[in-house]
Amino acid sequence: MVTFLSGGTGTPKLLAGATAAFPPAETTVVANTGDDIELAGHLVCPDLDTVLFLGGRVLDRETWWGIDGDTARTHTELRRLADAAGLDSGPRYLSAESQTSGREIARWRRFSGVAEFMHIGDRDRAVHLTRTGLLDEGATLTEATERLADAFEVDMDLLPMSDDPVATLIHTPEGVMHFQEFWVARNGDPEVEDVEFRGSEAAEATDAVLSALSEPVVVGPSNPVTSIGPLVAIDGIERALRETAVVAVSPFVEDEVFSGPAAKLMEAVGYEASTAGVANAYPWADAFVLDEADGTDLDRPVVRTDTSMDDEEDAARVARAVRDAQEVTA
Ligand code: GDP
Repeated sequence: MVTFLSGGTGTPKLLAGATAAFPPAETTVVANTGDDIELAGHLVCPDLDTVLFLGGRVLDRETWWGIDGDTARTHTELRRLADAAGLDSGPRYLSAESQTSGREIARWRRFSGVAEFMHIGDRDRAVHLTRTGLLDEGATLTEATERLADAFEVDMDLLPMSDDPVATLIHTPEGVMHFQEFWVARNGDPEVEDVEFRGSEAAEATDAVLSALSEPVVVGPSNPVTSIGPLVAIDGIERALRETAVVAVSPFVEDEVFSGPAAKLMEAVGYEASTAGVANAYPWADAFVLDEADGTDLDRPVVRTDTSMDDEEDAARVARAVRDAQEVTA
């Protein structure tokens, strides 16, 4: 058995070709939920959904989000209506009072559906409606995710990191904004002063997550701050990582990041934006997989391979390196 910790791009890329080294029936994926938002009353879980669609063989692998070939008629009409009505395209937060009333899991990240600032495809939307419907009927996010994984015939076990709300909020000179405003609406442009995981002190790891973390863990090449940070901010998860064998794949080649805002965010929270910084952020990791061009000298065992993943063959190579690194930690 093995458990992967996942954000929405790097680890799913690895999972896409990991099946030979890590059979899906023996694999659990624990996904970050700090990026989730409630949009028009529907809970959108971008990282869970990328893994859901990957496991269901319907993921759009150009973007690493959404369903391949999905239409977006409702989204297009929402944009058109807002424009025709002269309404600002947002992101349009609900009032401060609304942020903490209503469905508990959506706290501190509630947006109106007017102008829909995130692109939501039509089939994709059906997932959010079903998930939210199940939550309204009394299911936990873990249970709702299990039902959706059944619907998409996902062979891996897929778990949200918690059934409690944790919201990734970016502090900028322009104010505090949810990660999705920072990344999707503002392209990662605002200066970052701090990153907050609101709710993480009270949030608990579920029994399913704690049980999954008693197995060897793989931290894929995810953003250490906004994808892995929310998980580690939950005490029970951090404790479990200290006790189990953990192999981490660097999302950097020395100080070059493959994609996304990891470098800027790491500097903002006091880490060097590099593989060395990732190792400092992951004191509980027992071994690392680094790119063959990455000469970083670490205080823990390292396995090197070409870690750039453009297809399943690349991912299979990185997965084999992860296996080799696991043997070093065993
Ligand atoms: P997010 O939820 O979309 O932010 O995605 P993740 O946190 O899962 O992944 C983003 C990280 O994946 C970035 O820091 C990238 O550097 C890393 N990444 C993307 N593609 C690759 C790749 O081909 N190889 C490696 N090693 N890392 C990658």
